[in-house]
Amino acid sequence: MADVSALRCVTCGAEYDEASIDYTCPACGPRRGTLEVIYDYGRIARTWSREALSKDPEQTMWRFLPLLPVRDRTYIQPLRVGCTPAYRFPALGKRLGDLAELVVKDDGQNPTASYKDRASSVVVIKAQERGETVVTCASTGNAASSLSGFAAATPLEAVIFVPRTAPEAKVAQLLIYGARVFLVRGSYDDAYDLAGEAAEAFGWYNRSAAMNPYLVEGKKTGALELAEQLGWNVPDAVFVAVGDGSVISGICKGFDELRRLGWIDRVPRVIGVQAEGSAPVADAFERSADAEGDVQIVDIEANTVADSICVGKPRDIVKAVRYVRRNGGGFVCVSDAEILDALAELARETGVFAEPAGATAYAGLKKLASAGKLAGKRVAAMITGNGLKDVASVRKIAGSPTEVDASIDALRRVL
Ligand SMILES: *Cc1c(COP(=O)(O)O)cnc(C)c1O
Ligand SMILES: [Zn+2]
Repeated sequence: MADVSALRCVTCGAEYDEASIDYTCPACGPRRGTLEVIYDYGRIARTWSREALSKDPEQTMWRFLPLLPVRDRTYIQPLRVGCTPAYRFPALGKRLGDLAELVVKDDGQNPTASYKDRASSVVVIKAQERGETVVTCASTGNAASSLSGFAAATPLEAVIFVPRTAPEAKVAQLLIYGARVFLVRGSYDDAYDLAGEAAEAFGWYNRSAAMNPYLVEGKKTGALELAEQLGWNVPDAVFVAVGDGSVISGICKGFDELRRLGWIDRVPRVIGVQAEGSAPVADAFERSADAEGDVQIVDIEANTVADSICVGKPRDIVKAVRYVRRNGGGFVCVSDAEILDALAELARETGVFAEPAGATAYAGLKKLASAGKLAGKRVAAMITGNGLKDVASVRKIAGSPTEVDASIDALRRVL
């Protein structure tokens, strides 16, 4: 386990003791004052090594415990979170735009079928360390189903707020895991504010995106894993879909920490992919050329088929913009048509079935590859959610099956 040295405000740089603060910097407020978890990297580098890690038989993200903010193993759930496969598809990479390597990391294979499990796994531990009994969050769907699943593996109760438009499968997950579920008449952004007020009014522990500093710690493990899976020879670029901006912040932080430990000598460019109808983080990135200056935030009314990244008021926008600037990465936007097209192509060409937001990473990769911008590069796409999460969107583009009478003659006639 790692000793957290401090929680540092991403905007003003003030450092807080872990015991003295729950969520965000009081001076900068909940939006700009998100906190980053700081460790004593010198100490970690002295007591842990790539060799020690390679001998560790643990096959979950908890193999990275020395770099995670958890005191000990007491509250680690038995669910297998992380250690998702990283597949190579060389022929597809060549066809897309002469890539030197194409890696697809399938995080739809987590226990509740999304990348969010990496964060929920950490947060239910923090909740128990603090002696909490109820955890809550607002979510477009995946953070909620993830928190519900992980709470189900603990004595914690989950209270969930999702927009009334959340896909059926995600709501079914919430209910079957035993969460108390509220369908909010409003957008995700409305649900987020309601969950925050409820947490404060009723004393619940809040896992909503960005405000809880420990979420990004779980989310960085996708980067740690990918680096290890590629033998510490990291790709040139890693693509990931962006909604609130926490997953991309985690991925940037993960690579950055590996470089601090001396385990990799350079970081990959991390490329955020947003849907055109929901791109406030990409816009802020364009407007904020200086990584250390004020991030220029303009909230919007979001609209995209990729429900998991349909976020008009991104909560981790400051961290995401700063981290991607420092990382040397960037952003690319794709249309809903490009997202659905990418979803179908990914499934057909690789056997990896992504939900729309998961396929968005691949859509961005495909867009830059076909413009010739990735030729000769080693590139990875983080597939953040499983396709069974939103079957309704898939049915719109998947074509129709052929109905047939149950006889071989009938089959012959339609073949
Ligand atoms: C949450 C989510 C994202 C984006 O993560 P943010 O932290 O909101 O930027 C991408 N894909 C899927 C499937 C998600 O559930
Ligand atoms: Zn601050």
